[in-house]
Amino acid sequence: MEDQRKRSDARSAQAFAEAKQYIPGGVNSPVRAFKSVGLTPLFIQRGAGSRVYDIDGNEFIDYIGSWGPLILGHAHPEVIEAVKQTAELGTSFGAPTELETRMAKLVTERMPSMELVRMVNSGTEATMSALRLARGYTGRSKILKFEGCYHGHADSLLIKAGSGVATLGLPDSPGVPEGVAVNTITVPYNDPDSIKLAFEKFGEEIAAVIVEPVAGNMGVVPPLPGFLEGLREITTQYGSLLIFDEVMTGFRVGLNSAQGRFGITPDLTCMGKIIGGGLPVGAYGGKREIMEMIAPAGPIYQAGTLSGNPLAMAAGYTTLKLLGEPGVYEELERKAARIEEGFMANAKERGIASVINRVGSMVCPFFTEEQVINYETAKTSDLGAFNRYFEGLLDAGVSIAPSQFEGMFVSVAHTDEDIEATIEANREALKRV
Ligand code: PMP
Repeated sequence: MEDQRKRSDARSAQAFAEAKQYIPGGVNSPVRAFKSVGLTPLFIQRGAGSRVYDIDGNEFIDYIGSWGPLILGHAHPEVIEAVKQTAELGTSFGAPTELETRMAKLVTERMPSMELVRMVNSGTEATMSALRLARGYTGRSKILKFEGCYHGHADSLLIKAGSGVATLGLPDSPGVPEGVAVNTITVPYNDPDSIKLAFEKFGEEIAAVIVEPVAGNMGVVPPLPGFLEGLREITTQYGSLLIFDEVMTGFRVGLNSAQGRFGITPDLTCMGKIIGGGLPVGAYGGKREIMEMIAPAGPIYQAGTLSGNPLAMAAGYTTLKLLGEPGVYEELERKAARIEEGFMANAKERGIASVINRVGSMVCPFFTEEQVINYETAKTSDLGAFNRYFEGLLDAGVSIAPSQFEGMFVSVAHTDEDIEATIEANREALKRV
């Protein structure tokens, strides 16, 4: 049966061709290029609430949300107003402002494990800086990460990474020196035996374990019961630091993030995305004794011309404040659960092998019969089926990340009508699978 394609991408195609003349691959971050799905990337004109509009005039219910930050939806009026008012007073000073203290205070209140917090400009900077701190503090060199987890693009973290690295099938990146790579140990997610073996062999040399407490860069993969508890235990036993990379899960899976949801206290936490309310922000923080090793309090250097930028602090603070209103996370949970249920019913109806992983408002359908608990099992998903499904969804007016190895983000702005329309779009898209 011929699909009735109404969606035009002529202007996006033209814009993409022009962008490629000046920007590597036409984009400033790889997965945006739609390379693995073999389509023209949408060039976005604007966003409002649950919607994005591309330059061809198409409207989409959006579940990318700028890859996680826009938990309140696009162009939330209060966030925009805060940015506007702050901008009137100047965009950057490179001097301390009270906005930064207000922000740090709120973050430390919501995240009790973060006694001190340092603002940076991206998730990558947060994880990179946290690793330097962990190495400086412990005097050890090795770190342990999990296959399929993505922690930004610092050299020592680009080993068996998820997200775009997984999407493009580039297990290790050229340009990462061998001398750096040897200090990164990788083991499968949710696998206590491998962790135990790694510690028996290298335990005294491991500065830190870095983990996404809910993995969101190999699709969504929840921690199995006992996994995070086991990490807390073994790192304490060997004197290694436990770093939660909550760049994606921070203020996403609950007001106190994943550590609150699962009741685990890490030594250091990395944040990003939501904390900036759609502006470029990252943060890292943790125990006072460790954080006081950072310059100028201590000898470990880390800095930033635009760190703690007023516009970013205004957007982030306003976002966090709105997230603190009663019932926000319950509503997100309810809507995301409805998506999970609707998608599952659709897959059953069509007899399609599908597993749906969900934690809070992070949702991810896989086209496989296997329980997805790590990168190996995530890779059993039928990627051809995903690509057809992805295009089907776009044609039905729903935008998700163009990769099996990413999740959908439900926002406060998604209405019940949006959710039902999305379930119907999923039903249509599954016909192409
Ligand atoms: N850590 C995690 C868990 C992430 O999901 C990401 C980005 N998707 C990063 C770190 C890197 O953040 P950024 O892209 O802001 O550098």
